[in-house]
Amino acid sequence: MRQIFLLVVFIFAARWLVKTMRAAQTGTAARGAAGQGASRGQATGAAPPQRGPRQLAEPMVRCAVCGVHAPKSDSIAFGAQYFCSVDHARRHAAAAGGRDGR
Ligand SMILES: [Zn+2]
Repeated sequence: MRQIFLLVVFIFAARWLVKTMRAAQTGTAARGAAGQGASRGQATGAAPPQRGPRQLAEPMVRCAVCGVHAPKSDSIAFGAQYFCSVDHARRHAAAAGGRDGR
Protein backbone atom coordinates (compact mmCIF):
# COMPACT_ATOMS: atom_id res chain seq x y z
CA MET A 1 0.00 0.00 0.00
CA ARG A 2 2.80 2.34 0.79
CA GLN A 3 4.37 1.67 -2.56
CA ILE A 4 1.23 2.80 -4.37
CA PHE A 5 1.23 6.00 -2.40
CA LEU A 6 4.85 6.57 -3.26
CA LEU A 7 4.11 5.86 -6.89
CA VAL A 8 1.30 8.44 -6.94
CA VAL A 9 3.54 11.00 -5.32
CA PHE A 10 6.23 10.25 -7.82
CA ILE A 11 3.82 10.66 -10.72
CA PHE A 12 2.67 13.99 -9.40
CA ALA A 13 6.24 15.11 -8.97
CA ALA A 14 7.09 14.06 -12.51
CA ARG A 15 4.07 15.91 -13.87
CA TRP A 16 4.99 19.01 -11.97
CA LEU A 17 8.52 18.78 -13.28
CA VAL A 18 7.36 18.48 -16.88
CA LYS A 19 5.00 21.40 -16.46
CA THR A 20 7.70 23.52 -14.89
CA MET A 21 10.15 22.73 -17.63
CA ARG A 22 7.59 23.51 -20.30
CA ALA A 23 6.70 26.83 -18.71
CA ALA A 24 10.36 27.70 -18.41
CA GLN A 25 10.91 26.86 -22.05
CA THR A 26 8.01 28.96 -23.27
CA GLY A 27 9.04 31.80 -20.98
CA THR A 28 12.55 31.68 -22.36
CA ALA A 29 11.27 31.63 -25.90
CA ALA A 30 8.90 34.52 -25.31
CA ARG A 31 10.97 36.84 -23.23
CA GLY A 32 13.99 35.28 -21.66
CA ALA A 33 13.02 36.09 -18.11
CA ALA A 34 12.89 32.54 -16.81
CA GLY A 35 14.70 33.08 -13.59
CA GLN A 36 12.51 31.85 -10.79
CA GLY A 37 8.76 31.91 -11.34
CA ALA A 38 8.02 28.93 -13.51
CA SER A 39 4.28 28.96 -12.85
CA ARG A 40 3.90 32.50 -14.19
CA GLY A 41 4.92 31.80 -17.74
CA GLN A 42 1.47 32.22 -19.22
CA ALA A 43 0.70 35.68 -17.92
CA THR A 44 2.65 37.50 -20.61
CA GLY A 45 1.00 37.24 -24.00
CA ALA A 46 2.55 38.32 -27.22
CA ALA A 47 1.19 41.57 -28.58
CA PRO A 48 -1.23 40.91 -31.44
CA PRO A 49 -1.05 42.93 -34.63
CA GLN A 50 -3.05 46.07 -34.13
CA ARG A 51 -4.14 46.82 -37.68
CA GLY A 52 -7.16 44.54 -37.90
CA PRO A 53 -9.04 45.11 -34.64
CA ARG A 54 -8.19 48.77 -34.62
CA GLN A 55 -10.04 49.48 -37.83
CA LEU A 56 -13.13 47.84 -36.42
CA ALA A 57 -13.06 49.96 -33.29
CA GLU A 58 -12.47 53.20 -35.16
CA PRO A 59 -15.40 55.60 -35.22
CA MET A 60 -16.72 56.91 -38.50
CA VAL A 61 -17.25 60.61 -39.02
CA ARG A 62 -19.23 62.42 -41.67
CA CYS A 63 -17.79 65.02 -43.98
CA ALA A 64 -19.55 68.33 -43.45
CA VAL A 65 -19.33 69.24 -47.15
CA CYS A 66 -20.15 66.15 -49.15
CA GLY A 67 -21.53 63.85 -46.45
CA VAL A 68 -19.13 61.00 -47.07
CA HIS A 69 -18.42 58.81 -44.06
CA ALA A 70 -14.74 58.23 -43.40
CA PRO A 71 -12.67 56.78 -40.57
CA LYS A 72 -11.80 59.35 -37.99
CA SER A 73 -8.06 58.93 -38.45
CA ASP A 74 -8.36 59.49 -42.20
CA SER A 75 -10.55 62.55 -41.97
CA ILE A 76 -9.52 66.11 -41.31
CA ALA A 77 -10.83 67.75 -38.16
CA PHE A 78 -11.42 71.46 -38.45
CA GLY A 79 -13.11 73.12 -35.54
CA ALA A 80 -15.93 70.85 -34.42
CA GLN A 81 -16.47 69.27 -37.82
CA TYR A 82 -14.79 66.61 -39.89
CA PHE A 83 -14.00 66.53 -43.58
CA CYS A 84 -13.05 63.79 -45.98
CA SER A 85 -10.21 65.82 -47.49
CA VAL A 86 -8.22 68.98 -47.03
CA ASP A 87 -9.98 70.45 -50.03
CA HIS A 88 -13.37 70.13 -48.41
CA ALA A 89 -12.08 71.51 -45.15
CA ARG A 90 -10.71 74.52 -46.98
CA ARG A 91 -13.92 74.98 -48.90
CA HIS A 92 -15.97 74.84 -45.72
CA ALA A 93 -13.66 77.29 -43.99
CA ALA A 94 -13.87 79.68 -46.93
CA ALA A 95 -17.66 79.43 -46.97
CA ALA A 96 -17.83 80.00 -43.24
CA GLY A 97 -15.44 82.91 -43.51
CA GLY A 98 -17.86 84.70 -45.84
CA ARG A 99 -15.69 85.06 -48.89
CA ASP A 100 -15.23 82.49 -51.54
CA GLY A 101 -11.69 82.41 -52.83
CA ARG A 102 -12.64 81.21 -56.28
ZN1 LIG B 1 -16.10 65.69 -48.35
